Amino acid sequence: MAQEERITEGSCLCRQVRYELTGDSMVNIMCHCNNCRKVTGSLCMANSIYSKSRLRILSGEAVLKTFKDGGTDSGNVLNRSFCSNCGSPIYTTRVVDGVEEGHIIMTSGTMEFKGGDEWAPMVELYCKSRCSWLPSLKGRTKEFDAGM
Ligand SMILES: [Zn+2]
Ligand SMILES: [Zn+2]
Repeated sequence: MAQEERITEGSCLCRQVRYELTGDSMVNIMCHCNNCRKVTGSLCMANSIYSKSRLRILSGEAVLKTFKDGGTDSGNVLNRSFCSNCGSPIYTTRVVDGVEEGHIIMTSGTMEFKGGDEWAPMVELYCKSRCSWLPSLKGRTKEFDAGM
């Protein structure tokens, strides 16, 4: 019997936006860049990358707004979609040479996890601005000074 694919559910803080992801993420990322700090209001951002076809928005599509983040270190535009009611960032897509990529960067913090071990980072980006007091995850993550 084929194994059932994992379903990950997620929602924004006010729960108007609800979504579901099928299958496992391609990669889990912790990003320490300044833009991710601003967008989360926190010191780093946790994201999971999926193929776009894996995402299904179940409700709240009408309250989603997209901010075009053109001030990125890489120069690529990031379309950052968030709930316009409560402000939760939901997902980001990347535009390279004018073309939107086929994968979607989901905010891991909006996913419904049952325990703290369901998500772990595989890669850390922008370690050049990583908080030095954060314990090192060496051996658990692949570290990049900037983007991948
Ligand atoms: Zn919301
Ligand atoms: Zn970032």
